[in-house]
Amino acid sequence: MTIIPTAEQQRILDLGPTSIRVRAGAGTGKTTTVALVIANLVETHGIEPERILGMTFTNKAAAELAQKVADRLPTSLDQSRQVEVHTYHGFAAQVLSEYGVLAGVDTRSGVITPTFARQLIRDVFLHESHLRLDITNRQTLDQIRKLGDQLGDHLLRPEDIVRGSAIHEGDDVWAARVEMAETLSRYNAAKAELRVVDYADLVTLSSRILAAHPGLAAVVRDRYQVLVLDEYQDTNPAQRVLIATIFGSGFPVIAVGDEDQTIYEWRGASAENFERFIDHFPTADGSPAHDEGLTLNRRSGDAILQIANEIRARANPGADRLEPAHDIETEIITFWARDALAEAEWIARQFEGLHDGGVAWSEMAVLFRKNKDFAIVVDVLGKHDIPLEVANVGGLLSVPEISFLRAWLAILQTPEDSAALAQILFGSAYRLGFADLARLTNWLTRASPEDADREELHPVTLIEAIEHSDQIDDLRPEARSRLRRFHREYRELLLETQGLNLAETCRLILDRTRAWQDVESLPPNPRLTARLNLYRFLDLADDWSPLRGRPSVAAFLDYLDAMEEEPAEELDSARLSGEDAVTLVTVHRAKGLEWGNVAIPAVVAGNFPSASGAFPDPIRFPYQLPVEFRLDSVVSELPDDDTMRGAFFRTRHSLQEWRVAYVAATRPRQRLFVSGAYWYGLPEPRLTPAQPSELFELVESHPASTSAGHAPAGPRPDVLRTHEGGRDPDPLFAGGWQSALRMASEDPDRLDAIAADVGVVDEYQSLVSSWEERLFRLGELDVADTGESVKSVSVTGLVTYAQCPKRYFWSDVDPLPRRRNPAAVRGSEIHRRIELHQRGQVPFEDMVPDLYDTIDGEGGAPGGFQAYETSRFATQATLIETPFIIGLHNGYLIRGRIDAIYTSGSLWEIVDFKSGSRRDDPARMVQLQAYALAANEVEFGIPKPEQVDVTFAYLGGGGEEVSERADDDWLAAARERLEELTDDIAAGRFEPTPGEWCHHCDFLQFCAVGQTEVG
Ligand code: SF4
Repeated sequence: MTIIPTAEQQRILDLGPTSIRVRAGAGTGKTTTVALVIANLVETHGIEPERILGMTFTNKAAAELAQKVADRLPTSLDQSRQVEVHTYHGFAAQVLSEYGVLAGVDTRSGVITPTFARQLIRDVFLHESHLRLDITNRQTLDQIRKLGDQLGDHLLRPEDIVRGSAIHEGDDVWAARVEMAETLSRYNAAKAELRVVDYADLVTLSSRILAAHPGLAAVVRDRYQVLVLDEYQDTNPAQRVLIATIFGSGFPVIAVGDEDQTIYEWRGASAENFERFIDHFPTADGSPAHDEGLTLNRRSGDAILQIANEIRARANPGADRLEPAHDIETEIITFWARDALAEAEWIARQFEGLHDGGVAWSEMAVLFRKNKDFAIVVDVLGKHDIPLEVANVGGLLSVPEISFLRAWLAILQTPEDSAALAQILFGSAYRLGFADLARLTNWLTRASPEDADREELHPVTLIEAIEHSDQIDDLRPEARSRLRRFHREYRELLLETQGLNLAETCRLILDRTRAWQDVESLPPNPRLTARLNLYRFLDLADDWSPLRGRPSVAAFLDYLDAMEEEPAEELDSARLSGEDAVTLVTVHRAKGLEWGNVAIPAVVAGNFPSASGAFPDPIRFPYQLPVEFRLDSVVSELPDDDTMRGAFFRTRHSLQEWRVAYVAATRPRQRLFVSGAYWYGLPEPRLTPAQPSELFELVESHPASTSAGHAPAGPRPDVLRTHEGGRDPDPLFAGGWQSALRMASEDPDRLDAIAADVGVVDEYQSLVSSWEERLFRLGELDVADTGESVKSVSVTGLVTYAQCPKRYFWSDVDPLPRRRNPAAVRGSEIHRRIELHQRGQVPFEDMVPDLYDTIDGEGGAPGGFQAYETSRFATQATLIETPFIIGLHNGYLIRGRIDAIYTSGSLWEIVDFKSGSRRDDPARMVQLQAYALAANEVEFGIPKPEQVDVTFAYLGGGGEEVSERADDDWLAAARERLEELTDDIAAGRFEPTPGEWCHHCDFLQFCAVGQTEVG
């Protein structure tokens, strides 16, 4: 599509290749302008695309920019010719990989993520003794990390702090700062030992190399003719120095950004970089860089921009005013509720009204200033059956499924964490009541010795009381049996999570607690909500698990605590799934995103704009970098007087908060809902009512807004609780869906009786039949709760049995602990990725290339997901991840899940993706035999096939395929084979059959026959 530049854009294009600062207001098409500038440099000024270097902040932004530029380049240009686009860190990494050897850095060093860096700091910190630092205070670790970040932001080493401390003898703050710097020195040594670098090292080490070898800067610079910097307002001084070292002194540098969207100042972004760009990057003749502004907003309508301009003026009175590019009808509505529940109800009703009018859920978002405000909105919107996607970690923790998973992690890490334990026991899986818990704690009190000097060990924690639940006389029988079940599952998880990394541990918890089954049993919208949120959390856990076996769960739980308290910790803008769900996200993570309709709740005094907790005062806090060490001069002098210093920091903080508000107000295209309430706090409300904040008053009093009401405060409520009665309960299942499903699994006759009572027996039976394939998994609940055996076997179990009956015995009949298989983990990741691809979604975070794209084919062929992407199977399948159940004549049920079914007329091709390379093991054929039978016998909701092909696609071998045609004879043989196998299982034949597969068997350590086989 051809874009006609606006007058503002044309002025920039006319300047050609020279240094320019572009002040781009929110929604003014910043990235489009960058793309136009680059296309203009190529077309009008004859600059080769490869000689233009682009930089931006995040991988996501870099990918978008590269795509936009590619779309704008002249079509006559060879498509393979591209502009080089990096992240700021990525560019530094490239310099380091070329010249790192000059700084003694191994150029093959891996780059560790901030999450892993945090673990490493934790490790070195906890293994040293400290005089002034409190190792029991979790915040100490964050403070050390903060100091480390600031050192990196200003090209410093920890040793610089130690040296600088000499003139501060006797100063306690400096003494603590030196201890922190010493920890950071040890952290650097640990990185060197592991041959890794962190993000800050990339910039610091590159800068150091270029400073020490001036000729290198010219070598790098000469590769390019123009540098284009996007989101420049978020860069830190170290990044500015690195860029200026290479591209200062008249090289054409075009920087685009918005100083009024600098919301990461506290994380190192320096407002001075953007402010003083015109001096830092002069034009070729030495004069200051050109200065241009973009004010034509292409996103929002007039009324929204009027409000946004007012908010922006609070942060920057001299800022340009945004003007609407289009005549869009807009609406701004404020509402002041009595309490947070009523406020969330109001938001839910606004969204329901929009949805009823045809607006997609994905066109709505709730933006929060603080994580603590998520829980009530998540709960109330959920009760209105609105699908939700919580797009940041802190908010995610208030989602029930995630909170449950976190509680399990907590008790596996710290068994005495009784709060987490109680949360699990009160949950839907075990359904204990307060009275049950009281009996456990009473027993504990009785069991504990009064004489503290007695030496016998006595139970003192809740988990120990559960271990002794058989001795507690007054427990209800149901409570006792549930506690026994909990205890069994807890012990199994303790055993099986040994040696697993975090992501594997999370997956195992979800498997063992049957969380996925619970999710699948939910109605569609809550199911979508739960799935999106669990996937997001698993992505996070993956990111946190870079090394196998590291003790990362404790660090991860610390990290979650920190995220819960500080929403701005997550730097990158959120990546959304693309599903039709309302986004719930913090304002910080909403930067760069937009929706048709946005609600901003809890706009109350002290909350939004937020009151500062602790000012970044280096005179009081050891983790703040003293001003004399800074590379910029935004804080060059601090008043000695405490009050004046407080006022100084308060003003800076307030300006930043107004910039955050400006980011929030410029996200919606059409509707902005701003609300607040008197009473917050769950379940106990705060003691005094909250009041409207300055921001709320600004919006409410603006002529462009309308008020939907201002409720009276009324007396302070005793408790704020989201009532079960938010929606009328189903009269048949007053306890909700989950409890109904549990009841069904425990006593199926009850459902038949209810169906008979209300006269819907036929409809009920017909539904039961049509959903049988999906419901079969609920049978597993029966097994877990009652110990009854079910005559069914999974396809995986059958393949295992066909290979070695003993292995099947130890997997499924009398399970032994097994080690986690990395190949299986990788396999399930590839399957998940394929499923997302087929559903038209992308993972929430960037792919980890090594995980998906392995070069493990014999001839170096690309493997993994890449092999899938280039195969014929990357086209749209008719059915994916399709569960089925088939019955055999001997009464056995076989259950399985088909990866993908492709159809062409009446021909079906059933495909099973293997992440490894080809192995011609006859046992594997059992899998295709079961699938082919299912294709012919199970109702999949599409016309039956006349012909079926079954295929293994070996992605690890570069996509090699093995196919068979399942004609009538083939099918008859398949059925016979499955019946033979299940007959043998029923007869208890579990003799070992050793073979080359023993090398990969999880039970080799227990199996003498297998050990003989492998020698
Ligand atoms: S080691 Fe070999 S023989 Fe033993 S159970 Fe495993 S696969 Fe079977």
